[in-house]
Parts: sequence; structure tokens; C-alpha cells
Amino acid sequence: ERAQLKSLRKLPAITRDGTSVTLNANLELPRELDGAIEVGASGVGLLRTEFLFMNREDLPDEDEQTEILTRIVTSMDGKPVTARTLDIGGEKIATALRGYFSEPTNPALGLRAIRLSLKEPKLLETQLAAMLRAGAHGNLRILLPMISSVAEVRRVREIMATVVRRLRRRGVKIAHPLPKLGIMIEIPGAALSADGLAPFCDFFAIGTNDLIQYTLAIDRGDEQVADLYDPLHPAVLRLVQFTTEAALRARIPVSICGEMAGDPRYTALLLGLGIRELSMAPNNLPLVKRRLRGLDLIEATRRARTIMDQTDRGRIAALLDDFNDAAA
Ligand code: PEP
Ligand code: MG
Repeated sequence: ERAQLKSLRKLPAITRDGTSVTLNANLELPRELDGAIEVGASGVGLLRTEFLFMNREDLPDEDEQTEILTRIVTSMDGKPVTARTLDIGGEKIATALRGYFSEPTNPALGLRAIRLSLKEPKLLETQLAAMLRAGAHGNLRILLPMISSVAEVRRVREIMATVVRRLRRRGVKIAHPLPKLGIMIEIPGAALSADGLAPFCDFFAIGTNDLIQYTLAIDRGDEQVADLYDPLHPAVLRLVQFTTEAALRARIPVSICGEMAGDPRYTALLLGLGIRELSMAPNNLPLVKRRLRGLDLIEATRRARTIMDQTDRGRIAALLDDFNDAAA
């Protein structure tokens, strides 16, 4: 089994009927990069930059962030690296940023991620400057977490324009052309207004971890309600479908980078819904690749249509199991 998965490394991520799928890696720490390269990831679909702020009392400055990002971009050797701006708050905490928050009444719904970055624009300016500089050494894309409105994306674009001007005045080398700027779709309201957000974005990355949490009102980390945390809930699937179709209509790329993307039980359904790019923990990549290589996409699309007609969660799971068992 192990050897079989390893032998997949050099094989293309392509369905039985010849459609290629981009399989990227999620990274939480730079040292996971080796694993991503080893499993043959096409790129980094999600680089969580929280590690830069963890376990320290001070904040990383522009040069330090630039250096670390540049190392990652260079190691990926021209393959895309999708760097996400700070996603602190909610379940993710960092000591150095303690002073920025007062005790939230509800951390998951409070000052976090892009909201914090826009409230403390210095944080965002520093990160954007580092990303623009690192982008000069390879292929870097910028991703914004927890976007809920067009106004937030526009504001980030304004701040980015200012940062670009400032770097140019300093004579610092930056990415040319400028990095693509995309957003996480992980708030149900963002998913439902995906068609309105698309014109302001270069790409979407669907974050199912938070999308499930907010859609079903289930804390993603609370053991007591873990059995209700359900990727196959019809509401979750409809939001994924709606977002995917909005991206296809607007002709911008859309990927999925939540845990759901790394679970081979969901691969057929996600591809059947029109997804062609998945990002996951490197360990899961061979499993997903094996599943999609055994998949007939026309059949998967047909089955996905039947599944999306269902309103009962049990029926959805049964239909998907059927399809997966037939492949096994
Ligand atoms: C998500 O929410 O699905 C996601 C990919 O981001 P994170 O797990 O870092 O919140
Ligand atoms: Mg998230």
C-alpha cells in the first residue's frame, strides 16, 4: 500500500477520461515544504502565515517575513505559492498580538483574520510588502482570509497600491507582474455573494473548515458537537456548488483548501461539481491522486447532479458511498 502510494508520485493527476486536476499542498510550517515537494504537489495552495507570529513576544518585521517567504517561493522553483495574510483570532492565537484584542464575546465571530489586518493596517502593509518582495523570486499569489464583503477586498487593493508605490520609491525589487490577489470563501455570506465578489478577485479558495462551522453553527474544535460537523450537509454542498459556478461564470480559478479537499471520499463529488484544483496536507495528496486517477469525470459529473438533487444527508452519503465502492 505504502509503496503503491509512493509510486503515484511521478504519475500525473489526471482522471481516467483525461482531465488534469491541480493538486496543491497546504503548509502550516516551512519545514513541511519537503513533504510537499516529495509527494509531487503542483504548488502550495495555502501557506498559512500564522507561524511567523507564533511563540514570540515581538512582531516579525518586513525583512524577516520577506526572507522566509522568499525561501519558500524559491524552493518551489517557479511553482505557485499561495500565501495567505494573517488569520489570527478565533481558534488561532498568537502571544505577540495579544495587545490588539480585548476579550471577544465570541472569538469565532469577532475581530479576526482580515478584520484585524484592516483594523491594524500596519500589520497588513508589512505582510503585503513582504509578499510583493518575495514574489520577485518566483510565483507568489496573495490570499485573504475571512472575507465577507466587496468593501474589504477593495480596501486591501487600495492598501496594496500604496505599498507598491512605497516599495518602488524605495527602489526595492517586487513581483512583476504584481501577484494575483484572491480570497477565501469560508463565510456563508461570501459564498452566497460569490458572483458579486468575483469581479474584484483573481481567484477563489473555498475554505470548507470554516464554511462548515459557520453554515451549521458548529464550532470546528468542539468535541461535544463534532458529530454534527458535516461536510455532506446539503447546505454546505450547495454553497460549494454556488461558489464554484460563480467562479466558472466569472472565469476565475476556484480551489478548495479545507480538510474536505484532502479526503478521497469527497474527491469524486468535488470534481463532479466542477472543481479542478484541490489543496491539502501533503500526506493526503497521494490518496486523492489515486482516487481521481480511477475516476471517470463524465460519470462523476452525472452522479454529482443526482447527489445535488437530494435534500437528505443520509441519502447523499449513501449515493457517494456507492460511487466510491464501485471504484474500490
Ligand atoms: C478553512 O477554513 O477551510 C481553511 C482552509 O483555513 P483554516 O483551516 O486555516 O481556517
Ligand atoms: Mg479558515
